[in-house]
Amino acid sequence: MSRYWSDIVSKLQPYVAGEQPRIPGLVKLNTNENPYGPSPRALEAIGQATDDRLRLYPDPSATELRETIAARHALTADEVFVGNGSDEVLAHVFQALLKHDLPLLYPDVTYSFYPTYSLLYGIEAIEIPVDDRFQIRLADYDRPCGAIIIPNPNAPTGIGLPLADIEALVATHPDAVVVIDEAYVDFGGESAIPLISRYPNLLVIQTLSKSRSFAGLRVGFALGQRELIEALVRVKDSFNSYPLDRLAQVAATAAIQDEAWFETCRKKLIASRDHLVTELEALDFEVLPSQANFIFARHESRSGAALLAALRERDILVRLFAKPRIADFLRISIGTDEECAGLVAALKAIL
Ligand code: PMP
Repeated sequence: MSRYWSDIVSKLQPYVAGEQPRIPGLVKLNTNENPYGPSPRALEAIGQATDDRLRLYPDPSATELRETIAARHALTADEVFVGNGSDEVLAHVFQALLKHDLPLLYPDVTYSFYPTYSLLYGIEAIEIPVDDRFQIRLADYDRPCGAIIIPNPNAPTGIGLPLADIEALVATHPDAVVVIDEAYVDFGGESAIPLISRYPNLLVIQTLSKSRSFAGLRVGFALGQRELIEALVRVKDSFNSYPLDRLAQVAATAAIQDEAWFETCRKKLIASRDHLVTELEALDFEVLPSQANFIFARHESRSGAALLAALRERDILVRLFAKPRIADFLRISIGTDEECAGLVAALKAIL
């Protein structure tokens, strides 16, 4: 075999996704899915679009969906880019960063796709350590860079940054693209979208996987001023002319329009999260302050690996991360109140 291909196998370290088990009946609190399901209006839209039209290619620009997203955020459709989940949108962002001669900065505890994409595309990246309370310190980003990417709230910690901090970061790096990954922002974080009109270097990324409960549909989007979005469109058009299928386009459009469903589900999840934090603290867990649909918690005396295994025996899935600094933390996605109560009962039996 060509040595170049064996090099890929030996050197590339792909992102390892959380377990998606085929066994029914497990309580799945491991990959931050939303337990409440997508908007019924979106499911109806999929039904109505499932016919002979599936033989036709979809709208390559997903115009209606982009217009719908734009209208919700007081933007125009040419300030919206859509892709197959925010992972694909991020891949396009990293491909656009290839042309930079200055490094990309991101926190050392963050979404593990960033190092994966940096490695894949050969982008020079510098990991900026979070402090001993896992907080992002903005002063540490005051260094020459071509781009900065920060999830807000951060993953897997759940810790959010106030909008004033995001604005300071964007304002002090006018020559760098600042990418704010808002996968979890709808669970109590502050979105940077209102800053877009004032900062041509700001790109905000969101997903329908979490607060819209559409992880299985794969729709994400980026918002920013026209030139940044046009750069992403050029990258995308050089890669895949039809990024979103017909069903994803109609379902995502209907999901974005269903504000009532969105509000009800996200408020329920925020309330369940806050209740779960209290319960876990009573069981001697240290829980980081979360603005997401998950919590990041470690126990005073039990290792993360032991707890994960004991929960797995009781058919409850949670997630661990390999990085030594966070290896003892369990990341627990917020489920229904019954699922959270089941988790607490299991932990009481284990501890
Ligand atoms: N960004 C962050 C911070 C995430 O945790 C995730 C979910 N794994 C994503 C982006 C990607 O989500 P999706 O591709 O489902 O939109």
